[in-house]
Amino acid sequence: MIYLDNAATTRVKEEVMEAMMPYFCEKFYNPSSVYGPSRNITKEIQEARKKIANSIGADENEIYFTSGGSESDNWAIKGIALSQQNKGKHIITSKIEHHAVLETCKELEKQGYEITYINVNEEGIINLEELEQSIKEDTILVSIMTANNEIGVIEPIKEIGNICHKHNVLFHTDAVQAYGNIEINVEEMNIDLLSTSAHKIHGPKGIGFLYIKKGIKIDSLINGGNQEKGKRAGTTNSALIMGFAKAVELKIKNMKTNNEYILNLRNHLIKRITKEIPYVKINGSMEQRLPGNINISFRFIEGEGMLLKLDMAGICASSGSACTSGSLDPSHVLLAIGLPHEIAHGSLRISINEENTIEEIDYTVDELKKIINELRMLSPLYEDFIKKEGKINV
Ligand SMILES: *Cc1c(COP(=O)(O)O)cnc(C)c1O
Repeated sequence: MIYLDNAATTRVKEEVMEAMMPYFCEKFYNPSSVYGPSRNITKEIQEARKKIANSIGADENEIYFTSGGSESDNWAIKGIALSQQNKGKHIITSKIEHHAVLETCKELEKQGYEITYINVNEEGIINLEELEQSIKEDTILVSIMTANNEIGVIEPIKEIGNICHKHNVLFHTDAVQAYGNIEINVEEMNIDLLSTSAHKIHGPKGIGFLYIKKGIKIDSLINGGNQEKGKRAGTTNSALIMGFAKAVELKIKNMKTNNEYILNLRNHLIKRITKEIPYVKINGSMEQRLPGNINISFRFIEGEGMLLKLDMAGICASSGSACTSGSLDPSHVLLAIGLPHEIAHGSLRISINEENTIEEIDYTVDELKKIINELRMLSPLYEDFIKKEGKINV
């Protein structure tokens, strides 16, 4: 089995598993209790929180553990929408956000909020002028992702934050894909709220954090006990927090070496595909991009068929995001960068990480070549095209 879908989720590392294990059977105590064993765990959680805060240049009091990326996005947007409703009900986001942001905004629209969805260019990058022009008197929040989950494009976060602060508007960023893969510093990048998730960086599923800059007023979505400084109730999840902290430690420590390795694999993959398979297009900026992401459109190909054949060859990849696969709608991200429906449909996302090898990449290209060829042979559109072009193809 070759796993090339690391943007959907990642394998939990053995060290991460080891870091979590003691907190299930031995150190199972509720960290909020008053006795010794609980107090010890509280200390360990504090250390973990500090380590995680350091990874983005934040203070430990600004890190709020949640159940993951989706909850963090929901909390940031709904929480600010509620706490700032006296100032206004206008929120700005982009057309290429993750569904956790887009669906949250849609929900707020139903409740009387106004949402502006700004465009990206054909490279997938936010139009900063359009962003600034969209800010109004009653704008309370801008939510733009740090890096996109389908095309890997990295947005100009620092500049976006700058524009927001110039106009006295809060800035939230979904950094789930970016966190651990590129350097993030919330101070330098003018970020007020930032979402992450552990399972995208070899941590466990079901935990993430929302960074909330000191002094920002935000409503809670989960009420109950006094955990997370009274802002997010629920018994502190010691095991998952310790696993998350270990995953962060490994990811940050190895970021540079891993990224060099991953880039090498990616360049090899792109070089072979563009050389050996005709009528392909790489989607999204090649300069402002996460190292592990590749998104390619194959003309005259239907994405689901391609994925099924890849699956039969033992290769796990994706056609868009895990959330859109299974539906017949083409990806909203690929449409936003201007791809026509039929091209967007024939797209493949490969997301590599440091556990992949060059042999896996070579095998994948070999199989992909065969698959694309087979599928095109069955395509009447391809037949017409070849006749018109008068070409004979591989
Ligand atoms: C995976 C992902 C999410 C959702 O995170 P979960 O922890 O799975 O809820 C949100 N945003 C982006 C960009 C993602 O890639």
